[in-house]
Amino acid sequence: MPELQKMASYTPPSNYTQIREMDREHVMSTYARQPLEIVRGEGVYVFDGEERAYLDFTSGIAVCGLGHCHPALVAAATDQLNQLWHISNIYLTAPQAELAERLTSISGMDRVFFSNSGAEANEAAIKLARRYAKHKFGAHKGDILTFAHSFHGRTIATVTATAQPKYQEGIGPLPGGFRYIEEATMKSVKAAVTEKTAAIMIEPIQGEGGVRPFSSEFLHELREYCTEMGFLLIFDEVQTGAGRTGAWLAWQRMSVKPDIVTMAKSLAGGLPMGATLATEDVAKAFTPGTHGSTFGGNPVAARAALALIDIVTAPGFFDQVRRREQQLYGELVKLAALRSDIVDVRGLGLMWGIQLKTARASEVVDRARDLGLLLLTAGADTVRLLPPLIVTGKEIESAVAIVNKALG
Ligand SMILES: *Cc1c(COP(=O)(O)O)cnc(C)c1O
Repeated sequence: MPELQKMASYTPPSNYTQIREMDREHVMSTYARQPLEIVRGEGVYVFDGEERAYLDFTSGIAVCGLGHCHPALVAAATDQLNQLWHISNIYLTAPQAELAERLTSISGMDRVFFSNSGAEANEAAIKLARRYAKHKFGAHKGDILTFAHSFHGRTIATVTATAQPKYQEGIGPLPGGFRYIEEATMKSVKAAVTEKTAAIMIEPIQGEGGVRPFSSEFLHELREYCTEMGFLLIFDEVQTGAGRTGAWLAWQRMSVKPDIVTMAKSLAGGLPMGATLATEDVAKAFTPGTHGSTFGGNPVAARAALALIDIVTAPGFFDQVRRREQQLYGELVKLAALRSDIVDVRGLGLMWGIQLKTARASEVVDRARDLGLLLLTAGADTVRLLPPLIVTGKEIESAVAIVNKALG
């Protein structure tokens, strides 16, 4: 069928300048675009229109956890594309049901609600926590407490949960029911609590806010306090989940179990998927009709997620990630010792931030890109590294050498 053949091949606009112009004229300008068009990806590398290779230490912001176009994920998603793309959630599909079973089991939770993004996973967590608290303690309950420097998403509720003024500018009125905790101390937590408090939401390691891990002592204290007070503890593991920290979820490394945990980013290895997981007692607060999503738990994304889970739960996978963690951490510490412009190196697993003395993180990202390495910032003074979990020791060595050069 020649027509089909033609439809299956896509001829892009001929050059970079044309693409940049179309984007500039027709896409709303919410992104500070990098001057780079990515055409394809393979493993830890992506390629531009001239077939120039870049070592990708962004993983699409912790999304392509197994690198680009992992053959097992491509095969699973392609098989599903040829079978069923979408059906309403009023019907059952096997990939969604099986994913629910495997995901709850490896996450140490009982039930899941599927959506398509991190913000949606957090929206569901907020709704679930409020319904639970109102039902259990009374209608006055509803406040969600979050931490300074947090990032929970861009929808109107999750951006209000995000305790960073720069994300909230010019979009008021913001919804009520959110209060902020200034510091990672129990004194600060108690100062934000009122009789309306329903839940405390926290990223075990803050991502966008600067790669800031909370100490496991603090998370333990927070857990005990929430239990004592009847507050739900919500972990936003949208960025730290799906293996990023060398365990399926960061809480499993820190041994602090939340009541609700949210995931998205790498869950389906690059296809959009969000998940809100909860214990049985909490999950009961959702009953038929109280929440929903058209695309949530889509069978194609579910097949990709199942393939990803098969790979990361295979014996030895996380041992390998932790060996790479030790290597990357060791090399970054060595780099920091040699350079007075690095003030801190923070992270866990394969999620690291290099905090610089001055606010020149984006300048370093630009230089590294020109040298063939993609990096991210996390705030103005922190360079963020999020390599795919399949990164090799050699690739880490090359990346750190480029970071050193890019620092100048
Ligand atoms: C990226 C991120 C979100 C938002 O996810 P989207 O898919 O962009 O809506 C929420 N929380 C954390 C911790 C994130 O890193």
